[in-house]
Amino acid sequence: MFDIEFKSQRAAALIGERWVEGDRQFAVNNPATGELIALVADLGAEETREAVAAADTAMADWRRVPAKERSRLLRRWFDLVVEHTDQLARLMTLEQGKPLAESRGEVGYGASFIEFYAEEAKRIAGETLPGHGADKRILVVREPIGVVAAITPWNFPLAMITRKCAPALAAGCTVVIKPAEATPLTALALAALALEAGIPAGAINVVTAKSPAAVGEVLTTDPRVRKVSFTGSTPVGKKLLAQCASTVKKTAMELGGNAPFIVFDDADVDAAVEGAIASKYRNAGQTCVCTNRFLVQSGVYDAFVEKLAERVRQLKVGNGQEEGINIGPLINQAAVDKVSAHVADALDKGARLVEGGQTHALGHSFYEPTVLADVTPDMAVAHEETFGPLAAVFRFDQDDQAIAMANDTPFGLAAYFYARDYKRIWHVMEALEYGMVAVNEGLLSTELAPFGGIKESGLGREGSHHGLEEFTELKYVCLGGL
Ligand code: NAD
Repeated sequence: MFDIEFKSQRAAALIGERWVEGDRQFAVNNPATGELIALVADLGAEETREAVAAADTAMADWRRVPAKERSRLLRRWFDLVVEHTDQLARLMTLEQGKPLAESRGEVGYGASFIEFYAEEAKRIAGETLPGHGADKRILVVREPIGVVAAITPWNFPLAMITRKCAPALAAGCTVVIKPAEATPLTALALAALALEAGIPAGAINVVTAKSPAAVGEVLTTDPRVRKVSFTGSTPVGKKLLAQCASTVKKTAMELGGNAPFIVFDDADVDAAVEGAIASKYRNAGQTCVCTNRFLVQSGVYDAFVEKLAERVRQLKVGNGQEEGINIGPLINQAAVDKVSAHVADALDKGARLVEGGQTHALGHSFYEPTVLADVTPDMAVAHEETFGPLAAVFRFDQDDQAIAMANDTPFGLAAYFYARDYKRIWHVMEALEYGMVAVNEGLLSTELAPFGGIKESGLGREGSHHGLEEFTELKYVCLGGL
């Protein structure tokens, strides 16, 4: 059993109805202090096959549970998650580092998917179509796709799980979750609450592991798994896609981004700065829809840089467990190294340091919120996802130039822009090659909208009714002899 108050230092994985300690454990540390938080079951291929078997067995009954009952159980899960907001938030901050206020926000955001899909479970409809002969009728039935593998990242330890598992369970699928090695505790707490809500054992399984390759190999090749829903980096996503090919699994790939944030001359600069702070520095810059490149038109360039730097100076860096903190630590030293490398490369090639630019005096994996101006397309930050608190500001003159710069990337997840002119807004929205575009807004995630990317940012959508359909198959039934 997983204790939601988490007073013990050990955590078992969940396979069917068994909490499995395994022969080995791996350490989970607090990124703000380096302290050991927990020893977690380190499972491998064999236990993953057991989890798939448990999900496969449970699927036979779960898919037959009436939609209204599945809805009731999901709703109960939602209620329990909301009731345990403080415990879940504390756990998340402990293992991931984000400020408590953000963790509480993530519990609310993550729970909203459970609430939404509890409602949608009752609205999975098929259709009848005109037949192709006088004695024929066409029926289209929507069925659950089967066992789902959900492989999730550490940056949103709770919401990335509910965004997949709630629609999967609503559709009548069962799931095997492989949480990120840095943040398994939130996943286990969520699963414990799902069981408490009455979701049957086997419908939700959690396989924890220090090294994901063996678990991933089973999840992407076992024929009983019919869908792999992955959120993480583009290189890992490509690898998993290739592995899924051998058994022709459906996949959902929520991958990396390189979001542009364009500020046009006619923008409300103060609003753009507020949007920039939300879009760039939330979760210390470790979100897939984080702005990676600020493209600012010459007429407002200096004002934007100055106001942004002023706001960045007000951000309070520290241990996320303390109230009033805006920026917690990065997830690990490798993350710090990447930000440092992007800053060094940009400065080397002529960028101007406006704010920050150093590892933080707090040590561990803290990095100063940073602003670089006069960034140019030859710098690494133009092409790679920084995933840290670095705002890189580019200058442009003409609208077409901004659009070309914005689209000059293999990624296509989220894009932001600030402008007032109606025609400009419409044209820029159409020209941006992105799955999601935010206009005069710095935050766009909601369970009500389809979230996802194009190009190398991924396949499929999560959220809204589109997110539910991803876990269903269409069955065409030809009725003849009528
Ligand atoms: P990652 O790709 O390193 O890991 C993601 C998950 O995949 C983890 O659970 C990890 O253990 C697992 N994994 C890694 N190798 C595997 C393998 N061979 N087989 C099976 N599983 C494997 O990504 P990360 O560092 O945890 O997360 C950050 C990345 O995620 C960023 O690129 C970010 O943009 C992206 N992300 C995307 C979205 C989105 O919705 N598009 C949301 C959040 C994060």
